[in-house]
Amino acid sequence: MTNPLLDDWDTPFALPPFDKITDADFAPAFKVAFARARAAINAIANAPQPATFVNTIEALERAETLMDKVAGVFFNLVGADSTPTLEALQRKLSPEFAAFNSETMMNQRLFQRVDQLFSRRAQLDLTTEQARVLTLYHRMFLRAGAALTPADRKRLAKVTERLAVLGTAFSQNLLADERNWVLALAPDDLDGLPDFLLDAARAAADARDLNGHVITLSRSLIVPFLQFSPRRDLREKAFRAWVSRGATGGDTDNGEIVREILVLREERAHLLGYEDFATFKLAPKMAKTPAAAKDLLMAVWKPARAQAERDAEVLEKMMRQDGINAPLSAWDWRYYAEKRRLSEHALNEAELKPYFQLDQMIAAAFDCANRLFGVSFRPLDVPLYHKDARAWEVTKNGHHQAVFIGDYLARPSKRSGAWCSRFRPQSRLNGATGAITVNVCNFARAPEGQPNLLTFDDARTLFHEFGHALHSMLSDVTYPMISGTAVARDFVELPSQLFEHWLTVPEVLQKYALHADTGQPIPGALLKRLLAAQNFDQGFATVEYTASALVDLAFHSAPAPKDPMARQRQILSDLGLPAAIPMRHATPHFAHVFSGDGYSSGYYSYMWSEVMDADAFAAFEEAGDPFAPTLAARLERTIFAAGGRQEADQAYLAFRGRLPGVEALLKGRGLSAGEDG
Ligand SMILES: [Zn+2]
Repeated sequence: MTNPLLDDWDTPFALPPFDKITDADFAPAFKVAFARARAAINAIANAPQPATFVNTIEALERAETLMDKVAGVFFNLVGADSTPTLEALQRKLSPEFAAFNSETMMNQRLFQRVDQLFSRRAQLDLTTEQARVLTLYHRMFLRAGAALTPADRKRLAKVTERLAVLGTAFSQNLLADERNWVLALAPDDLDGLPDFLLDAARAAADARDLNGHVITLSRSLIVPFLQFSPRRDLREKAFRAWVSRGATGGDTDNGEIVREILVLREERAHLLGYEDFATFKLAPKMAKTPAAAKDLLMAVWKPARAQAERDAEVLEKMMRQDGINAPLSAWDWRYYAEKRRLSEHALNEAELKPYFQLDQMIAAAFDCANRLFGVSFRPLDVPLYHKDARAWEVTKNGHHQAVFIGDYLARPSKRSGAWCSRFRPQSRLNGATGAITVNVCNFARAPEGQPNLLTFDDARTLFHEFGHALHSMLSDVTYPMISGTAVARDFVELPSQLFEHWLTVPEVLQKYALHADTGQPIPGALLKRLLAAQNFDQGFATVEYTASALVDLAFHSAPAPKDPMARQRQILSDLGLPAAIPMRHATPHFAHVFSGDGYSSGYYSYMWSEVMDADAFAAFEEAGDPFAPTLAARLERTIFAAGGRQEADQAYLAFRGRLPGVEALLKGRGLSAGEDG
């Protein structure tokens, strides 16, 4: 019997043959993929010929072709459409991957070849891109510990392996807590909830074979529930469940996992000669040091907190008018903020929502990409992994560019959040067919037969993830190492956050924000109010985010805490976090930081990128045209198509001619630095 994961894919655009792949195919396919990758890497390391760029670096770029194919399908499915079989395999695989990676990075013969090449790089007659890829390989080996003593290398491998196991356990605990909790609403608990939320709560019940309406811990249900439910008791109940994810004290509690992760990360940094984990992590980033990242966060923190404190007073007054004498609590903030939005901006989500149909917002994102970068989208009729997922062929100047898969609706088999990933990166090395990129979101599902409606926030998320997708799909490089989104973590949110700006361009909304029932475009007055309200509650949004980013940074730039939760309380109290504002992600469910290495001591990156995106979009405003063609062409060349061809600050300089300051961001969020009382 053949294994479809191991075959050549003669499908359109070499898409994975999703209709043939079963869960049972993965374990044997990984076995073959690991064996083939090991054989290829050993052949490179032990080759009798002297090292050349082609027989070493290019060969390394090809060594894991089969592994990338198998893992590309597997990890996308584990996130977007998981099953108990896949989850069990994921637990088994994470230490195997860690062991394989450290074995490769610790391969001394291999490292010596890379090291020799690197020391002779000036004489190798390399292209700019090749020189960059060689430098990145060399840096990767050093940062993995290839130059350490044998004893230290061995210990580092153990630490890395254990960290991978802990990261997986962290995510799985979180998924279990999210899956297991529902708040069933009795008929009289539904008062005050807008139709879109009722529909979503009914659909969530249906998906779990329950009757009536339920609220789950999915952001697209819980946030509107906290916004609209006048029932303070239910809001408190829902909120407490939401912030208790990963901290319920039972089998799925993440407390001990977090403590051990922090200890091991610190040990890893020490082994590699860095004083702490954040210093190690930030060295190759655009920020370069934890101090630079912290300075930026604090420059934003102070005016944001001042604004949030002024807002808290207003909201507490509104609560008093409702006859509630308790202090303003975290489960009150969104509810009274929504009321305030209604009174100050005469704007509420329920009035807006019919204008934000999922399909129209997809069309809007495609249209903006077309006007900026000349790409077109054609629906594809191909088998995918789930009936919710849809695929489009992306073309540019009549040529194939990429395949885009959009998988937008929430379901129990999907982990929470929204993300962009890929089944295959763009690269010219193997004459490949272009990227296969996927956006996964968790938008609430409308009842059968009705159009799916988004909140404005959801629409923003759609544009955000699509910005990542464009970064992946417009990539125009030779080597997978630097393809698309393979850039510094504090630079990778620039394309996504920048793309969000086009959602707020009035002509885009006039064209695509069409009422679901009447097809009429959003009225001019409502559109004006919507855009005017964009700065609304930015004190809250900035504080909840910045608190999480500062805790992440503090955890990793000081000795590992014995009791992380106590340390978190201390950090927040030193910062003076307003009582009614929780962290956007508290430690026990802070998946960015603890489910893997990705955003650890890197959650600041969103803000770092926002400094750039505010400044970059200002270039279009200065040009007087949100689609200014020469500017868009330069943006594509220097950022969207360039992948990791150069250091992030150089890429930004090439686009804008200078580096950005914090002013455009504060202006964009309506927070003026001068108002810090
Ligand atoms: Zn992002």
